[in-house]
Amino acid sequence: MAPIDLDTARRLDRDDPLRSFRDRFHIPPGPDGRDSVYLCGNSLGLQPRGTRQAMLDELDDWARLGVEGHFDGRHPWYSYHEQVAEAAAHVVGATPEEVVMMNGLTTNLHLLMVSFYRPTADRFRIVTEAGAFPSDRYAVASQARFHGYDPDDAIVELAPRDGETALRTDDIVAWLDEHGADVALVMLGGVNYYTGQAFDLRAITEAGHRAGAVVGFDLAHAAGNLLLNLHDDGPDFAAWCSYKYLNSGPGSVAGAFVHERHAFAPDLPRFAGWWGNDPKTRFTMPETFVPQRGAAGWQLSNAPVFTTAPFRVSGAMFVEATMPALRAKSERLTGALLDLVDALPEGSVEVITPRDVAQRGCQLSLHVHGDAKRLQAMLQSEGFVADFRPPSVVRVAPVPMYNTFEDVWRLADLLRRVVTGAPTGADA
Ligand SMILES: *Cc1c(COP(=O)(O)O)cnc(C)c1O
Repeated sequence: MAPIDLDTARRLDRDDPLRSFRDRFHIPPGPDGRDSVYLCGNSLGLQPRGTRQAMLDELDDWARLGVEGHFDGRHPWYSYHEQVAEAAAHVVGATPEEVVMMNGLTTNLHLLMVSFYRPTADRFRIVTEAGAFPSDRYAVASQARFHGYDPDDAIVELAPRDGETALRTDDIVAWLDEHGADVALVMLGGVNYYTGQAFDLRAITEAGHRAGAVVGFDLAHAAGNLLLNLHDDGPDFAAWCSYKYLNSGPGSVAGAFVHERHAFAPDLPRFAGWWGNDPKTRFTMPETFVPQRGAAGWQLSNAPVFTTAPFRVSGAMFVEATMPALRAKSERLTGALLDLVDALPEGSVEVITPRDVAQRGCQLSLHVHGDAKRLQAMLQSEGFVADFRPPSVVRVAPVPMYNTFEDVWRLADLLRRVVTGAPTGADA
């Protein structure tokens, strides 16, 4: 499509049904004191204005009520995780029973692999994507080692074809159909953090199950970004963090999904703690652990109220905006950026994220030819917050909850000035 101009960008922003959400965020100021163009929501989402008060409310309840806050607080701490299950379920397309907010992302991956990676002598491999996020690579390698396998032997990394930057779904499916007999676990990301490729969760789940494997996903870059349907797509488990697209603050509580088919599975091995026990008997301190139904049965400790309070606020905003509406805007917003980047001088900037809308979320990963250092300096000095990966990749994620069409127009305008060597605000 023809790239938008600045007037069109402003008109699209005025007509955007979600436009009021932007005003509900703190936008960090750039060097000149005006709002930055924040394109880093894939790494750390912005702070909703309501978050501060929500955290103060919990501090005040603690000050006012002490231990009674567990039951008499405005948001009783005893059931705190239950109060955010509905929003978490909306975000990932699950039932409230299938999700729980707890721990951190890598912790949840480990806890879920304890239950769902159960290697045997002839079925022990873990299939992941090449170039997975380091924490995921460490997690699967250490799980393999924990069960007595050499990670070099147990872990299979699927890589794109030579000369391509994204994995083809057909290749993943064909590989599993052909080599799946010794695969115990398929664990990919929902969206690759580096390329921005979104995977076809349903096709991969079906192929993994057809091969007799368990299927799990790391949704760090997918939750709050893609329109997910975990229940219908049917993976066995998933985990995600809340500080990227879910805007819940650094290191805040993470999410976990366990499909309904495993809702009551007292026979699955798991690392247990009192908060996963059936709440009816939790305080009678029974001798033996009886897991409660659903993902909540994987909890160990009582809910981390201060890192869950931010998700109360932001999760409610996702429910209010709705994922379908956010995704619809996201497709147009990132589509507009793609058209603008395509209009840059040939051979200057290359999009390594798949162009097909079904294979990408907000993020575009741009391979920039030419002076990468100058680009980085200009991004910063002109108030753009984007993630620069030396030597040449810039990741930009226009987030539908708070970014505008004008933001993406401004980014493309700056890129044009960098690649043509035109004067910039910084040089002028
Ligand atoms: C961000 C991210 C992580 C971070 O893990 P934490 O446990 O939250 O520190 C892990 N995996 C992927 C794929 C990520 O994108």
